[in-house]
Order: sequence, then structure tokens, then C-alpha cells
Amino acid sequence: MKRAVPIATALVLLAGASVAVAVLRDADPVAAGGDRAAQEDPPASEEAEEEPLPAKAYLRKACRLPERWVSLIVRGWNPSPERGPDLVIVPKPPNYVGSFINTSHSGPYDFLQKVPLIFYGPGHIQELSRFDPGREVTLADIAPTYAEMLGFDFPARDGTSISEILETSSAPPKLIVTVSIDGGGWNLLERWPDEWPKIAQLIGEGVNIEGAVGGSSPSITPAIHTNMSTGAWPARHGVTAIAVRSRNGAIVGAFTKSTNDTGVPVNPTKTLKVTTIGDLWDKANDNLPKVGLMASGNYPLGMLGRGAQLHGGDKDVAAFLEEGGAWTTDPRFYSLPEEANEQEFGPASDLEDVDRADGQADGAWLGHDLATTGLGNTPAAAAWEERTAETILEAEDFGLDGTTDLFYLHFKSPDHVGHKWNMISPEAREVLASVDTAIGRLRSWLDHNIGEEGYVLTITADHGQTPIEAGGWPVNRTELLADVQRRFDRVEDDLGIIQRTSATSLFSNLREMKANGVTPEMVSSYLSRYTIGDNSPEGTEIPTGFKDRAAEPVFSAVFPGRKLPLIEQCSGA
Ligand SMILES: [Zn+2]
Repeated sequence: MKRAVPIATALVLLAGASVAVAVLRDADPVAAGGDRAAQEDPPASEEAEEEPLPAKAYLRKACRLPERWVSLIVRGWNPSPERGPDLVIVPKPPNYVGSFINTSHSGPYDFLQKVPLIFYGPGHIQELSRFDPGREVTLADIAPTYAEMLGFDFPARDGTSISEILETSSAPPKLIVTVSIDGGGWNLLERWPDEWPKIAQLIGEGVNIEGAVGGSSPSITPAIHTNMSTGAWPARHGVTAIAVRSRNGAIVGAFTKSTNDTGVPVNPTKTLKVTTIGDLWDKANDNLPKVGLMASGNYPLGMLGRGAQLHGGDKDVAAFLEEGGAWTTDPRFYSLPEEANEQEFGPASDLEDVDRADGQADGAWLGHDLATTGLGNTPAAAAWEERTAETILEAEDFGLDGTTDLFYLHFKSPDHVGHKWNMISPEAREVLASVDTAIGRLRSWLDHNIGEEGYVLTITADHGQTPIEAGGWPVNRTELLADVQRRFDRVEDDLGIIQRTSATSLFSNLREMKANGVTPEMVSSYLSRYTIGDNSPEGTEIPTGFKDRAAEPVFSAVFPGRKLPLIEQCSGA
């Protein structure tokens, strides 16, 4: 909405606003007339089982969300009372919260949820190539599947073992390696079908679980990685997003006090409420198993577990990749073999390889100066990570004794590049290829050092990405916040009605709302009808392609989290 308007127009707008506020306080006129009447007259016949829709327009909209989306949102939402007043926002796909280049990837939509889930391991995993289990398979099935391989009694949570793919009567593998490609969902792989021959080979000789999904919304790094190792949904395991509303009401990071992704220090149980398979398997075997994680940043920490923070636990390996390429850990709970930072060739040599790949040692990659692009945005990141994985696996004797070891490896570069240049860019193509090459190298290393039948290698991803070409409106958060402020905030102070935004949720500032006589329901009602035109910043023209869509709502639904049980019912989820 425009800020500077002529006085006459402003008066009209003000008049309109007060009418609108009055409407917001009650049901909207259509609802009062139509649906309420319907509610008072329950269907005479017992065959008519459909519940009447709620009177509020924003709730009716939420009730029309696909059941599937609602289920995924419920699984991903913290159901505790402190979260109740925060708003769930469901961008109408392909709209997303972000900018024209930096798209986000958080939601219940198929294109974000569908991920590879590939198991490979001769003697342990059947060579089925593609397998459709005829039921929903999610990444919360990974931990129970490992537990079955180990013959280990893992607590039943939300996931189920994919027993059908396991070789019966086989001894447990010596090592299980889980590789997560951040942002490597099927829509990225399908966009660049020729860039992952090594992954394709693993599918051919192992199995991909057809239709596998992350399993909860938001489809975001900390939450989905935690699904993998806890076998639980975020509603149960607690790691719902990057920014999490804690029990005392404060907004904290998934594994840190703030929401920074720069490694350490970490607090593994800042929001994580349950144990991982790594935690329990390790402890049940007197800490004999080796458990390790290599990750870019701390967001995937839920894949590992709590290390020595667990009573009776030990310092598992946790290697966090820093921006410059060095490895770090939080020594209070984890360990880092010193060999990781003492390798003969550092990340500079991987950058050199990238530089020379086009035949010229000119310091550039696809026209970007490699000195300033950042290791994590280049194909060198995956190469460096994989070399370090070999170093750590060797230094710590992973896979050499009689108890199964667990190792988790996270490749972040496809996600980084997707945010910087989008998944349809040549940069994304080359970085995906670099991850595939790294996976191929890792497989060879495992074959030679653990033995061809000694290990299981799992390849998966936490989410897909949003291609800019899909024509989605990038919901501008600054503009949205300003519009909410103009509409609802009459109290003169520095506090906003909305405390913080994310791609799938708005954190309500309940105190400021109360001071203004505003409720989360009123803001939801307003945002349910919020359009592309409303969200176009003042003084800018609506970009081509969106001009005739100015009246389109940007969200499929907006509602306070505390309405989720109701929406679960009315949507049939
Ligand atoms: Zn991302």
C-alpha cells in the first residue's frame, strides 16, 4: 500500500479503514448472512456429514486448504500455548516469502516436500532400484529403518521402518553414512537431470523410495534434519524452524540463543526435546559406536544429537564448516579430530581446481571472482567437505570394529547457490554436479576402506527449491510489516504488532497487540485478503507479469496457530 496519498484520498481510505476494522471485529457480512444461517439449521439427513464452515472468512479460507497441507503444517507446528497467538502464513503457490532472486523454500507443497531417499548397501539393502511402498514415506522413517538394521529397540514415534527394502538375515553394517543435500529435493534434480550420474548409479544398485517427502512444514533445514534422526515430527521433537518460540516466550534459534547459522557455540537442546538414534545407539552400547556429523553451519545439528550433553553420552564428532573453510566444534559437547584442520591440501586447492576447470587459471568461476564469492557458494565446498570426511572417518577409525558406527554428512552449497542465484542458474547446475562427484568419491573411499558389503550409504535432501520462473509473487516482508503497522498500530512506541517474520510464520507481539486492541485473529483476517497490489512497495510500479494480478491474494490462508485444531477438523486433515 502507498504511504503518500493526497489528503482527500487519505480521508476516504481512513473512512474505509474504520469500516474495515468494524467488519474485522465481527464476522464479515457474507458470513453473517449466509453461513451462520446454515449453522443454525443442521442438516436433517444423517447422510449429510459435512461440518458447516466457520463464519469468519479467514477461517473459511483456511478450512479450504488441501488436507495434505494442513497435516504437514500440524506436524511442523509447536502446539504449546506460547505459540498459539503466532500466525501461520500459507503463501498461495507459487508465491513465496522472499525477493525476486532469493526465493524461499518453506511450505507443505509437493515441489518442496518431494526428496530423494536413496539407500545403497550390497548385502544390507535390496537392489530394487525404485520402490513404491504404497504408503506415505517421510524422512522420519530413516531412524526407525536404521534401528531395524541394527536390531535396536528404538522408541516408536512418528516414523516407521521401511522394512521392505532390507535384506533379511544380514548382519548389521559396520558403518551407516547418511548424506544430506541441502535444497537437493527432486525438483532441483529434475531440473538438471544430467548432473548426477553417481547418485543415479546408487539408485540403480540400491533403491530410491518413490514419493518420499520431508514430512512436515516448514520444509526448512533444522526441522527436517531433526525429523531424520529422531523419527519424530517437529510438533514432538521441538525443532520447528530456524527461529523458534521458546517456552518462556522468547524467540531463539533452533540450536543457538540467536538464530545464527555460523557454527558454535551451540546448545543441542535449546529446542530439541527428544533423543536421536545416534544418542540412544551410542549410549546403549557403552559409547563404543562412533557417531559423527559434518555440516556447514549448525542448522543440521538435529541429525547428530546431543553428544556429551546427554546424561551418559560422550563427545561425538561434530565438525562445523566455517565460512573460510576451517572446521570447528563446540568442545563442551562434541569433539573434532585435529586432522580435519591439518590436511596437506586445504580448501584453497579445491578452489584452484574450480578455477582451472574452464581451462583458465584466472581466479574466476562462471564470471565470479573466486576470491570474493565465498567457498560455500562454489563447487569447491563439496570437494573440500568430502576430502575432510575421508580424513575424519580415517582418523577416528569409523567402521572398523564390531559395533555399527553412524556418520552424517551435510552438503550446503546447493541451498546457498539456490538462494544467491536461484536453482535454475548455471551456478546451481555446477554445484549440484560437484555434490554428485563428491558422493561418487565417498562411495569409492567406502568401498576401499570399509569394504563393499561393509556399509550402507543413504542419500537424501531436506527440501526442494522455488524456481523463479514459476511466476510466484515474492512476498515482501518489509512492505507487509509496514502495512500491518499502518493498519493496526495506533500506540506511539517503537514496538511493532509483529515481532518477527519468517517464510511460514509471523511472530505476534501479543503485548503490543493488546495495547492496540488488536487480536491475532484480526491480523489474520486482514492478511487473508492481502493482495499483490497491497504488497507492492510505494513508489514502485507493479512489475510486468503481475500488473493484471494486483487483486490476487498473496496467501492461501493466514490464521493464528491456536486455530490449527479447528482447521484440522474443518479441512478433514
Ligand atoms: Zn535454504
